[in-house]
Amino acid sequence: MITITNDKIDILSLSLGQLENEITTLGEKKFRAKQVFEWLHLKRITTFEEMTNLSRQFRTILEERFCIKSLFIVKRLESNIDNTVKYLYRLSDGNYIETVLMSYNHGNSLCVSTQVGCKMGCKFCASTIAGFKRNLLPSEILLQLYETERNSEQKVSSIVLMGIGEPLDNYDNVLRFLNLVSSKNGTNLSLRHLSLSTCGIVPKIYELADLKLGLTLSISLHSANNASRSEIMPINDKYDIYELIEACKYYFKVTGRRISFEYALIDKHNDSREHSKQLQRLLQGLPCHINIIPVNKIKERNYSSTRKSAAVFQNYLTSLGLNATIRRTLGSDIEAACGQLRREQENI
Ligand code: SAH
Repeated sequence: MITITNDKIDILSLSLGQLENEITTLGEKKFRAKQVFEWLHLKRITTFEEMTNLSRQFRTILEERFCIKSLFIVKRLESNIDNTVKYLYRLSDGNYIETVLMSYNHGNSLCVSTQVGCKMGCKFCASTIAGFKRNLLPSEILLQLYETERNSEQKVSSIVLMGIGEPLDNYDNVLRFLNLVSSKNGTNLSLRHLSLSTCGIVPKIYELADLKLGLTLSISLHSANNASRSEIMPINDKYDIYELIEACKYYFKVTGRRISFEYALIDKHNDSREHSKQLQRLLQGLPCHINIIPVNKIKERNYSSTRKSAAVFQNYLTSLGLNATIRRTLGSDIEAACGQLRREQENI
């Protein structure tokens, strides 16, 4: 395992305002910070050497005080079926994360990780089985976009925070990432093209709503009653289904953004007509969309479902007036189920 320790500031994690502070402290003019920021986030250079509109002396000072982080591609798997590309990246401390580039009619979407591992313990999820290592830095979330665009030579038009980790358990760094990726002096991605997926950390949903960032909130619901949700998602013992739905109603009221619910269909667990009726009662009055995902098999568990049972469940829901689609299976030939590549690499 490679460990790089240094006491330099991670410059890619700094907002323009923070960079201005740092640079004026160094005795330089404030406008220099904008130049540096644009080199990093617009031109996406990877060394201070390349910042050719700055004096050599200033570049040396920057080099001494800051570091520009990077990601290393360890594996790149491209689907022969649908052009999905899955990256296994190594971070500078030797940890691994996964990023998936998916192509849709409306453009490319990028699924990024927010933590190394996960604490949430969802029973069906490969990312959480070996536990949690650490939060990703804002720069490490951002670099998944920069490195993937560079390597694939494709432009990403939307981002989903749905890779390894629970974004609301790394709230501050995720907010700093959102600020960076939507910066007018950088990538300038409208947060309307970004979805954040959570297993349901209720207090953070309220905080996020109040920020009115315009992003889509995706809730990993997977079940419409407390007993069966708690069986597969430990977070439900902390914030139950009714508290979660209250928070979703608040999010909609404050932001006007329709909520998206993820529903991983598991045979004999949450796929009956009765389950669909419970879902209808639970979601009554909340403008939302339900995304049915046939559960991806992982080796530790016996959970399974088929596209056929997903179609049956979708019919139940639509006949009850709910808005439901089945998630397209992308990259089925490249183990696109989240967390599996990292586990193979680390042997965990
Ligand atoms: N922690 C966040 C985001 C990461 S998981 C969350 O819980 O939403 C991204 C999505 O994949 C979640 O909806 C999660 O429940 C789902 N997921 C994880 N493992 C899965 C599997 N084996 N099959 C289907 N969906 C899975």
